[in-house]
Amino acid sequence: MHRPHFVSSSGSTSFQIWPKRHWTLSFATAFWITFMSAYSTPTQAAELAASSATEPIQYTLSFPRPASHYVEVEAVYPTAGAPQITLMMAIWTPGSYLVREYARNVEDVAARAVGKEETPLKFEKVRKNRWRIETGGAAAVKVTYRVYARELSVQGNWVDAGFTLLNGAPTFLTLADEKAARPHHVKLMLPTHWAKSFCGLPNAPGNDPHHYVAPSYDDLVDCPIYAGNPTVHEFQVDNKPHYLVNEGEAGVWDGPRSAQDTQAIVQAQRDFWGFLPYDKYVFFNLLTETGGGLEHKNSTVLMASRWATRKRESYLNWLYLVSHEYFHTWNVKRLRPVELGPFDYENEVHTRSLWIAEGLTSYYDRLFVRRAGLCTQAEVLAGDPPSAAGGDDKTKNDIERLQETHGRLVQPLELASHDAWIKFYRRDENTPNTSISYYTKGAVVGWLLDAKIRETTKNAKSLDDVMRLAYQRYSGEKGFTPAEFRATAAEVAGVDLAAFFTRALDTTDELDYNESLAWYGLKFADPKGNKSKPADAKDDKPEKPEKGYLGIETKNEAGRLVVSTVKRQTPGYDAGFNVGDEILAFNNFRVRPDALGKQMELYRPGDQVSVLIARRDQLQTLDVTLGTEPKNQHKLEVNPEATAEQKQNLEAWLGKAP
Ligand SMILES: [Zn+2]
Repeated sequence: MHRPHFVSSSGSTSFQIWPKRHWTLSFATAFWITFMSAYSTPTQAAELAASSATEPIQYTLSFPRPASHYVEVEAVYPTAGAPQITLMMAIWTPGSYLVREYARNVEDVAARAVGKEETPLKFEKVRKNRWRIETGGAAAVKVTYRVYARELSVQGNWVDAGFTLLNGAPTFLTLADEKAARPHHVKLMLPTHWAKSFCGLPNAPGNDPHHYVAPSYDDLVDCPIYAGNPTVHEFQVDNKPHYLVNEGEAGVWDGPRSAQDTQAIVQAQRDFWGFLPYDKYVFFNLLTETGGGLEHKNSTVLMASRWATRKRESYLNWLYLVSHEYFHTWNVKRLRPVELGPFDYENEVHTRSLWIAEGLTSYYDRLFVRRAGLCTQAEVLAGDPPSAAGGDDKTKNDIERLQETHGRLVQPLELASHDAWIKFYRRDENTPNTSISYYTKGAVVGWLLDAKIRETTKNAKSLDDVMRLAYQRYSGEKGFTPAEFRATAAEVAGVDLAAFFTRALDTTDELDYNESLAWYGLKFADPKGNKSKPADAKDDKPEKPEKGYLGIETKNEAGRLVVSTVKRQTPGYDAGFNVGDEILAFNNFRVRPDALGKQMELYRPGDQVSVLIARRDQLQTLDVTLGTEPKNQHKLEVNPEATAEQKQNLEAWLGKAP
């Protein structure tokens, strides 16, 4: 066990590391002048000036036993003389639309008056995430609590012997019901064997590298904190420092290459928007064998496998992830749906525009890896490679993913966005049957919209111009409504897009790909996988006989072959298969748990099979007529008969092919 590295003003080891004299108004005022000139834009500075009289909340975080996964929090709250104060912990993190009940990880809450004698104060838990404290007239109240931090995810908290990642929402109790922005100061008392901390927040004046200042609670929530022993790669774009903070390189991850490629992506996106809207940017790249990413105004948390630089597919996925989260610096963190800010941290916030925030960001993430020169035209057309974090086992483009999801016929795109909290983030075995991903369909709609604008303006304009015009009009505090975004796109296109948007966003009608395919000279590949070849080419491979198809997915559960998904409108669905059924035999022959795929090769479409199953331990048979597996009909390829004009259009979109 390592002792935490306490800094003490009085010479004793104590948690009270900020002598009260530091927090006089004069210090605060002087500090704010320095701080505002260092950090803020003129508008922010004006806003901050209005709140500069607001006394800060001061947090001290320590890690006495990091291996136990706890962070100890000591927080000092000014009371402004009120007889009671109420503290609140957020229930969700912006960017991740699920109620996560962070207060469940809080324990050992205690409150004391700040003064000579730290008198214990009465307090009461008044809501699942709120505490009301009787101040006894004290000018400031000190609250201590511990937070269990063992969720290794981009929006969660993690503490172990090696490092910590702390997000604002699951860590900090703040004063509830505040109207004005109040500064929140965070001082980290790191274990002696953790050398560095990083955070998007500016450092407090002075020499403590682990002391950060958030101008408001929103900024605190938006700036995750990492501490440990990372490998840090720094680069400059527009003379602004960018840090790629790699946790867990372990001699495996290619740090220099990843930093160089990250810089190329930053440069490509900076060129697109024309400016960088921050003073510094931190990529927290946690190589933890998990996956995910979460965007912030001047940082992002990424999680990936440390082996990802070793394989083209996984590295490409990582580049797309970097590009995706970084694009959010503009799209969603500053150009946002009107509903996504200021945030209500205690309730769900619904918006119909996640197809723009996430879908269009997905559309652009691959484009920017391409524009940065880090992938080929063919790779963009092929789509996302399989991810180490799970999901598909094949590279697929978004059209393929959308068209194989029955939910596209059930859930319109804007509704998918609105219901993200209860559908997309709460997936179950029926999800593919009833819903779609606003990432996937949003990206497809982005592709169609982009092609449409290029076509109607004869390549003079594109979706790029829509994004930039929308940013000009709606970024910052303003936000856009769904109607405003549609109108902006129509303005750039110079044509009425009402029918296009209605079909794509409000209905479940199938999308029409023909126009876009024709514009770029693309086509859907032959589903049998045969490349387009000259008519006289010999095909000497014998044709594989068609195998039977059930339309269910299974998993091997401790040696039992168990149904995990029943896709709608398939033979398995019609025959009455249920999720949870254990498959035992086909026509009285045993099916081993790892051999269903092989079994299906022994049957043909149209074959009648009697399947023995166990459902809640009771044996029964289901009679099924096997069908034909739907062919993948939406792989994109360049049409060999494309005209010179179509080739030019493709080049305008994806650059020159090698
Ligand atoms: Zn995103």
